Amino acid sequence: MPELPEVETVKERLKQDVLNEKIKDVKVYYPKMIENVTSKEFINTLIGQSIVDIKRRGKWLIFELTNNYMLSHLRMEGRYYLKTPKDELEKHEYVCFTFESGKELRYKDTRKFGRMFLYPKDDIYTSKELKDLGLEPFSKDLTVSYLKDKYKRISLPIKTTLLNQDIIVGIGNIYADEILFLCGLNPLKKAKDLNDDELAKIIKYTAKVLKNAIKKGGTTIKTYEVAKNVHGGYQTELLVHTKVNTECPICHSIIRKIKVNGRGTYYCPKCQK
Ligand SMILES: [Zn+2]
Repeated sequence: MPELPEVETVKERLKQDVLNEKIKDVKVYYPKMIENVTSKEFINTLIGQSIVDIKRRGKWLIFELTNNYMLSHLRMEGRYYLKTPKDELEKHEYVCFTFESGKELRYKDTRKFGRMFLYPKDDIYTSKELKDLGLEPFSKDLTVSYLKDKYKRISLPIKTTLLNQDIIVGIGNIYADEILFLCGLNPLKKAKDLNDDELAKIIKYTAKVLKNAIKKGGTTIKTYEVAKNVHGGYQTELLVHTKVNTECPICHSIIRKIKVNGRGTYYCPKCQK
């Protein structure tokens, strides 16, 4: 599943590929992918508009168009490919944006879980999808007092809490394990029991891990790659995630795998007591 660094990487690639392109035609082969308007309305509204900017908020891609915003969530397997209308339509390519320049952007999604939304310009940040999102991991507002306030009533494990998008956005399962390892925190520790030093470490290492992952183009894990033949370089940097039964890079204890609220969680029992 793409996490924040992968979505950031996709966003940067899309900016290189389709910024300022004017939409000539749109084809939707799986109408359910368009969530809040009909596919006909989606198509008719988009034709003639240009892609003015592409932003990211959490794991959402925000396409700023001339008159509207288009939101896109990749969910499990969504990918964008730059092609031309002459390229044969491949299986699982469900939305095609043809540009006046002759380029074509295709959205492919083998699992069909990805979704697109269309919003008027004023409504985007108050939309149902974006309004309750927590702070960005690099936000200046992400402070010890913010986390203390958010965590004070949370009896769930910190591992589970880091995945909660209402507090900090963009931390998925892979990076949560890496962040907690660098913090030296046991994934099962309750969020409300963390002291100020531990909260400060969470802030520091969340930014560090995600920045580094973005720099490496994300993590290609299992089946996800941000685009054809583009492999994230971060998997070689992973310290504990997927490293079950190997030695901890710090203390040489054996890395364990447990389930925390149903999510596979890797940690060092000695460094993360
Ligand atoms: Zn260790």
